[in-house]
Amino acid sequence: MTDVFGDLVGQDEAVATLRRAAASAAALLRPGTPVAARAGAPAGGYDDLDALAEEFDGPGGSNGGPGGAAAVEADPGAGMTHAWIFTGPPGSGRSVAARAFAAALQCAHGTGCGHCPGCHTALAGTHADVRLVVPEGLSIGVGEMRALVLRAASTPSGGRWQIVIIEDADRLTEAAGNALLKAIEEPPPRTVFLLCAPSTHPDDVSVTIRSRCRVVPLRQPPAGAVAEVLVRRDGIAPDVARWAASAAQGHVGRARRLARDPEARQRREAVLAVPRRLTGVGAAFDAASALIEAAEAEAAASVAESDEAERAALQTALGAGGTGRGAAGAMRGAAGQLKELEKRQKSRATRAQRDALDRALVDLAGFYRDALTMALRAPVAPVHTDTATTAAAGAQRWDAEGSLRRLEAVLECRAAIEANVKPRIAVEAMMLSLWRG
Ligand SMILES: [Zn+2]
Repeated sequence: MTDVFGDLVGQDEAVATLRRAAASAAALLRPGTPVAARAGAPAGGYDDLDALAEEFDGPGGSNGGPGGAAAVEADPGAGMTHAWIFTGPPGSGRSVAARAFAAALQCAHGTGCGHCPGCHTALAGTHADVRLVVPEGLSIGVGEMRALVLRAASTPSGGRWQIVIIEDADRLTEAAGNALLKAIEEPPPRTVFLLCAPSTHPDDVSVTIRSRCRVVPLRQPPAGAVAEVLVRRDGIAPDVARWAASAAQGHVGRARRLARDPEARQRREAVLAVPRRLTGVGAAFDAASALIEAAEAEAAASVAESDEAERAALQTALGAGGTGRGAAGAMRGAAGQLKELEKRQKSRATRAQRDALDRALVDLAGFYRDALTMALRAPVAPVHTDTATTAAAGAQRWDAEGSLRRLEAVLECRAAIEANVKPRIAVEAMMLSLWRG
């Protein structure tokens, strides 16, 4: 049996950091230590957690702290802090890391044992003191953030930490970022913020927020490690696991989907057939349409269920079809709420479309990367073993330069869509570049 960090694939360094911090945090909560001793003090009477950690740990991590905290003293600089950013490429496990760390902080043993109620509920998303923000739309708004910050300031009901996990912190609006910054600047004594973002580039996380967080960088896990976890955790056959791990280019969730979901495999095959089909201008436009429509269909399927459930829940809440005295009043408010819900669902659908399209572009980029490495005779394994022959033919025809130009066209398309160019325009431009070279 593994502990809460068992699903963090190929991230030994980050796991070591988080284990040290969890031990340090547990030590801080032990009776007789500064945080624990002050736990009964009136609200507002605390220094922030960093100051307490320093007081406990000794300035600069010296051995001046009180006894009973061997983990902290043995490891200067391992002290707990109240704001963290998990960075790494998509699929590297940013949110898995944040959830595992939250579980370790709520663990009854302070280690993330994986068995106690604290670990279980934190991982399952039902712990009363762990709040998870998963943006469904294109950005996280200020209203949502303010409400969250307010709730995060309350005393942890479980007696340990009040934890806020913000997935895709790069999707915070500026106003929401400011609301968060305020909370991070003056943190309640037992509140811990865990942010997830692709990088600490100012485009992703503001410099001021970054400066107040400790960064845990995650790397793209090696295909071997991803395959190993698919076999161990998901019971997937070793050869399928190896193929899926390679095809998913280090994205753990994607690898699992490819291994298990025949439709995901079909979509990938359709994308990888694109290079062979680009025989003229007309074919390029057809391929663009097909790619966009496939992304739309995939997105529609992925949000349809939650859209319907939300609509039904709202209608029940509003007493649709009711004839009681409250019904007329409820109907007046209903139109506004329904409109609000539709707006949110539309935003989520757009996000899902872009995510689906981006997955397709990553697959396509993998194909041209294979052609490039083959043209260069680089001794690396192909990303897509099942289209290696086509990639080899492409390498011969286009040479390294032509393969590189095509790879760049795909990457430029991704960047353009990220910069809000209309997806159809960006994809059509890419297909024409891929055809012309
Ligand atoms: Zn535990």
